Amino acid sequence: MDTHVARSQANEEEAALLDAIDKWLNRDVRPHVLKLEHADEYPHEMVEQMKELGLFGATIDPEYGGLGLSATTYAKIVERIAEVWMSLSGIFNSHLIMAACVSRMGTAAQKAEWLPKFATGEIRGGLALTEPDCGTDLQAIRTRARRDGDHYVINGTKTWISNGIQGSCFALLVKTDPEATPRHKGMSMMLAPKGAGFTVSKKLEKLGYKGIDSAELVFDDYRIPADHLIGGEEGRGLQTALGGLELGRINVAARGVGLASAALKDSVKYSQIRKTMGKPICQHQAIQLKLGEMATRVQAARLLTYDAARAYDAGERCDMEAGMAKFYASEAAVENSLEAMRIHGGYGYSKEYHVERYYRDAPLMCIGEGTNEIQRMIIAKQLIERFPA
Ligand SMILES: Cc1cc2nc3c(=O)[nH]c(=O)nc-3n(C[C@H](O)[C@H](O)[C@H](O)COP(=O)(O)OP(=O)(O)OC[C@H]3O[C@@H](n4cnc5c(N)ncnc54)[C@H](O)[C@@H]3O)c2cc1C
Repeated sequence: MDTHVARSQANEEEAALLDAIDKWLNRDVRPHVLKLEHADEYPHEMVEQMKELGLFGATIDPEYGGLGLSATTYAKIVERIAEVWMSLSGIFNSHLIMAACVSRMGTAAQKAEWLPKFATGEIRGGLALTEPDCGTDLQAIRTRARRDGDHYVINGTKTWISNGIQGSCFALLVKTDPEATPRHKGMSMMLAPKGAGFTVSKKLEKLGYKGIDSAELVFDDYRIPADHLIGGEEGRGLQTALGGLELGRINVAARGVGLASAALKDSVKYSQIRKTMGKPICQHQAIQLKLGEMATRVQAARLLTYDAARAYDAGERCDMEAGMAKFYASEAAVENSLEAMRIHGGYGYSKEYHVERYYRDAPLMCIGEGTNEIQRMIIAKQLIERFPA
């Protein structure tokens, strides 16, 4: 097939998929968001619908039953979903990072065994890196895996784990050699299905990001077969985690775009309806300045996100691009959600509107998948590396 035909076929497939997502969001999600959000209720029915749409296999290779979507198409899907209810995107994002760990670093046998079950959503889960004492400094983790014959025995605690309660399997970052120097050489990533010795000790209460479960997980002499070590070789855990996080950062950037865009759209609409001093508030220059800035932020965040996704799809090194997109889009979400609240006046503070949710959800985008402080440092380091004096 010539490249032109292949590209137009890919565009048509993407358009059909995005159309199906839009229809699902308008029919089955949008009408229920306020209720589920305020009850902090897990959206079981929507998860079943997400399975049918293939979202749990969105970026998994079709050879293993996934949709094999490019990061670009994936980002467009995430943006749409986050515009309606950001929490939903978390249910498949960390699951897909777990899958990416296996796809990128797993053995052929691990891919054949796990990826088809991840793709259908039969096994769902996430990524367990953070511990009570460390998040950014991952090399300081203390969860320990000791080899015992053809098994590993794991002890430790992970916290803030998305899908921790509803998920059944996690990519678990452990220390296989706590004395190793550099520290990352003693780190490994395991596939950890729930079983004896693996308990959920706490559901964590949060400001926002409702509906999706965040939990503390405890491993107490938890035993798994040695073939659950991703890649079959110890010492590659940090590399496995960081590789998966590139896609994760594009996802968080796309969530930021979705939230920033939702805040803008609600504000454009509301400002045409609400009147003060005899005219719609959108005709006051003070409100126009806000709308102009908000719209520019959305577009800039979107372009940065698509640029990072393009680099990822081209197989280029994209930590700087993903870092810029994640940093800018998440800050855009924070700024736009606050401006939307100001534009909505008292109603922006009401639980009957969505605006207060954007305001509670947006800051998470600045923290997850590497804080924005760290993103700026990654960008600077890459600048220095790419442009030596
Ligand atoms: C709702 C939610 C869901 C989450 N889901 C998951 C999940 O599914 N899996 C998972 O593993 N984790 C998850 N996390 C954890 C998240 O990834 C961490 O909170 C994040 O990485 C930051 O780590 P920390 O909270 O330990 O902060 P710390 O690392 O203690 O950082 C505290 C502050 O210091 C700054 N800082 C740290 N080091 C440096 C440095 N070297 N230079 C400059 N500034 C620095 C940080 O930017 C931050 O501002 C989740 C968190 C939340 C809130």
